[in-house]
Amino acid sequence: MSVRRNVFAAVGVALVGVGVGSVLAQREYKSGIVWPEPKLVTPGDKPGDPPSDAIVLFDGKSLDKLQNGDKWLIADGVATVRGSDIVTKDKFGDCQLHLEFATPAEVKGTGQGRGNSGVFLMNRYEVQILDSFDNKTYFDGQCGSLYKQTPPMVNACRKPGEWQTYDITFTAPKFGDDGQVTKPGYATVFHNGVCVQNHFELQGNTNYDKPAAYEKHAAKEPIRLQNHGNPIQFRNIWIREIVPLVGTKPEPKKENGEKKGE
Ligand code: MG
Repeated sequence: MSVRRNVFAAVGVALVGVGVGSVLAQREYKSGIVWPEPKLVTPGDKPGDPPSDAIVLFDGKSLDKLQNGDKWLIADGVATVRGSDIVTKDKFGDCQLHLEFATPAEVKGTGQGRGNSGVFLMNRYEVQILDSFDNKTYFDGQCGSLYKQTPPMVNACRKPGEWQTYDITFTAPKFGDDGQVTKPGYATVFHNGVCVQNHFELQGNTNYDKPAAYEKHAAKEPIRLQNHGNPIQFRNIWIREIVPLVGTKPEPKKENGEKKGE
């Protein structure tokens, strides 16, 4: 080996040594917060399948978990809107909701009259379902909107008759004793895997005939699916209650009877 190559090798070894030394000198940061261990959840076999802790609201056979579910037509694993809204018998607060829907393959009507249904979170905050494939309406009323509060960020509709997905995460609003909202609700919506609402701050009930406004309600309320007179099809509906983990931060160690930092 030449002198020159020896010099390069020596410099290289020195640099590696410095690198290892600086890594060893780093001290790992830990928050000190004591967290409960996250529970195990087994995901579904394929995307869209219910995970192990989901409550299945419609498995293709029965709508028993919803009031008036017997009014809708169930055939071939699909439920079709008929006669009335349907409302879950269980109530939910913060949640993750998955559902699949198809607007009618035979296109009829225009605007809000074409393929209209909706998912009412807490029975009052509507994520609009509409055939918005080549069907103009007011933007904050098209598919993926929080009805009359905000349009979807993009239009991710599939063609009429094709199956579509909604994956919604929802944070319930909180109210004070005086009835005023103290923390607003939030909704995130993925439509066919496309984010169309990103932690949108709800302005209150999504009303048809008046501005949005909050009205105090319970911490948990049902989910409602809308009958708007159009034969929308649904399948594979499930929901998970979601609860943030709460950690605790131990008191700082006392020194000479004083709390650190005092
Ligand atoms: Mg609707």
